[in-house]
Amino acid sequence: PQRVFSGVQPTGNLHLGNYLGAIKRFVELQDRFGCIYCVVDLHAITVWQDPAELRRSIREVAAAFLAAGVDGEKHIVFNQSQVSGHAELAWIFNCVARLGWLNRMTQFKEKAGKDRENASVGLYAYPNLMAADILLYRATHVPVGEDQKQHLELARDIAQKFNNDFAASIAANGLDEKFFPLPEPLIAGPATRVMSLRDGSKKMSKSEPSDASRINLTDDADQIASKIRKAKTDPLPLPETVEGLKDRPEADNLVGIYAALADSDAAAVLAQYGGAQFSAFKQALVDLTVDKLAPINAEMKRLVADPGHIDRVLGHGAERADAIAETTMAAVKDIVGLIRRA
Ligand code: ATP
Ligand code: MG
Repeated sequence: PQRVFSGVQPTGNLHLGNYLGAIKRFVELQDRFGCIYCVVDLHAITVWQDPAELRRSIREVAAAFLAAGVDGEKHIVFNQSQVSGHAELAWIFNCVARLGWLNRMTQFKEKAGKDRENASVGLYAYPNLMAADILLYRATHVPVGEDQKQHLELARDIAQKFNNDFAASIAANGLDEKFFPLPEPLIAGPATRVMSLRDGSKKMSKSEPSDASRINLTDDADQIASKIRKAKTDPLPLPETVEGLKDRPEADNLVGIYAALADSDAAAVLAQYGGAQFSAFKQALVDLTVDKLAPINAEMKRLVADPGHIDRVLGHGAERADAIAETTMAAVKDIVGLIRRA
């Protein structure tokens, strides 16, 4: 069976990149797959989180999923720490993955910065936990932004090494030789890597200090308008063709955002706006962005006002996720040779 898994960290300001690269795609996949969408709170604490703020953020990410159109009844929405299998399987994967593999991860290098000695061990092992998140449900497809491509490749390597290392035991337990499927990244569309509005060479991020660099899902119409009007651009008009976006990262980014919000593509956007000045295009982009985000923003506000309701949705999701997770963990323990409680 084909199954989708993906997660978003409760690390602060959900932004347009999270929406276009991930959450909007989560919604679109619901017709074709059984989907599991997770607020990955254990990932969030790989860097310091204020406890009260973390609780608020967990509910806010869950609210964003629901407000954007994720169906928590048909599909599964929950927060990671409520299902203990994530941490358990991550430990097993800590023992499968090789140091050399993790040493190549660029996100660790970026997030640890210069003071690497002082980064948490969790930040380093983060990709192993991510592999566990996906493989705990034996998910086959993972919608993510471009920045997660390398971690997905690692998850595939871990799945393959586990299947190989334990091939004899998998067979002895009467299980499929491909016990863990090799999960496929779903990275497609015009906004797989939304860039900062202030710097076309950096991705839009929750953890970037400058608020002007991103459009938050909680921004109101005036904030959205002001951030887009101030977004960095070059002095030329918009090109007529997609080739003309080459070496123009800021133009490329704004056209990609427009295309993703309009469910269109860059060529169609340029067929309409090629030759236009940025001032005119930015106004159209403001209108479109406000039009698409305002209903989500309003619904998120409504949902976060009732934390009890969100907590019930998460608890219900966790119960259903746990049922799948327990089956996988029982098999994993048998395969590895651990003795389960009788
Ligand atoms: P942080 O800075 O805390 O890592 P983040 O903005 O990278 O936050 P994550 O929770 O790490 O957000 O990622 C959630 C999902 O959003 C992932 O699928 C990730 O690939 C996607 N994503 C994050 N930033 C972007 C972006 N700029 N463009 C497209 N997708 C993105
Ligand atoms: Mg991230």
